Amino acid sequence: MNDFPIDLIRKDFPILDQLIYGQPLAYLDNGATTQKPVRMIDAVNKIHREQNSSVHRSVNYMSEKMTEAYEQARQTVQKFIGAPESSQVIFTSGTTGSINLVAFSMGEAVLEPGDEVILSTMEHHSNIVPWQMACERYGASLKIIPITDEGDLDMDAYRNLFNKNTRMVSVTHVSNVLGTINPVKEIVRIAHSHGVPVLLDGAQAIQHEPVDVVDLDCDFYAFSGHKIYGPTGIGVLYGKQEWLDRMPPYQGGGDMIDRVTFEKTTYNISPFKFEAGTTNFIGAIGLAESINYLTGIGMDKIAGYENYLRDYATQKLSSISQLRMYGTSVNKAAIFSFVLNGIHPYDTGMIIDKYGVAVRTGTHCAMPLMQRFGIEGTLRASLCFYNTTDEVDRLYDALNKVIEMLA
Ligand code: PMP
Repeated sequence: MNDFPIDLIRKDFPILDQLIYGQPLAYLDNGATTQKPVRMIDAVNKIHREQNSSVHRSVNYMSEKMTEAYEQARQTVQKFIGAPESSQVIFTSGTTGSINLVAFSMGEAVLEPGDEVILSTMEHHSNIVPWQMACERYGASLKIIPITDEGDLDMDAYRNLFNKNTRMVSVTHVSNVLGTINPVKEIVRIAHSHGVPVLLDGAQAIQHEPVDVVDLDCDFYAFSGHKIYGPTGIGVLYGKQEWLDRMPPYQGGGDMIDRVTFEKTTYNISPFKFEAGTTNFIGAIGLAESINYLTGIGMDKIAGYENYLRDYATQKLSSISQLRMYGTSVNKAAIFSFVLNGIHPYDTGMIIDKYGVAVRTGTHCAMPLMQRFGIEGTLRASLCFYNTTDEVDRLYDALNKVIEMLA
């Protein structure tokens, strides 16, 4: 991949250039959170220094400028995901905030006793617990799509889960543990043939490949700013207009109202109906700055380079005979979950950290998936476009040292 300007790109992420325990940092924990381009850091700093003022509230110059920038950020997100209207882009606190919003408001709009919500075995807790809470509130229940040993959804089983009580499907686009890229277009097509709406959890997909919500035809798409090189505490929910119009608000407060009296309140239109209180408007502008940075490089190019890294790391890690990989789908992002035979993932993670290699250990907020494989946890290396084959080699070498020491 000589045509990918990796050296220049790494200069955009100052945090990468440091020593950890005297070793150069190899940051391979991008599934947990991504590092920030200097352009985004500078933009957020500049706003705090020069421009900060609340949005949608005052007529003063600063506030009007800020409102303009906030709504511009919404349009940047709209364009990035191909949403037809900016009113369909709701700023939330993150993927978790987006899914809770949908589970609450769609719960109110559509769930009744006896109804069913379809999830999959590979969901993150944030795409399980909000639905469980909604089901408990309305007397509905969860139905779970099983997965194969390779970590693919069992699509035949999925087709068979539908019945007259199915009201919602909510699945992840890319698994944060297995790396599996799910056939989300097909998932949506099948659900729609039963008249059932679909939420896609894009927390691990949006940063890896171009996403077009109209092409996917999903009813909702959720993602987090901090996983796409933007600030923490900001996220996005895209929704089809017909649902956003039908859904009651999630939270009450300022800005989400049309008129308030003690007798009755009428609500604003979307997206404001779902953005109660002072939003993280600076976060939204920071997120837009990161998106502009990514589109400047090109999401296709990013996907191409990450696939190259994925293939390199797959080949390298599979040459370690004591390594057991979880998630071997042919449709996979550069996310690797594995254990070394007879060695606790936590011990492995601690030791390789001393070599400057940062990965994540544990259940990755996916306990039901761990139960499916009968394991307590894994190590997870999650790569992105500022990582290098040298860093993959360093992971490989560090794992071999662990095996020498502990196996
Ligand atoms: N879904 C998936 C697939 C994730 O990987 C994550 C974050 N690990 C989330 C949801 C939750 O994201 P956040 O904590 O940013 O809300």
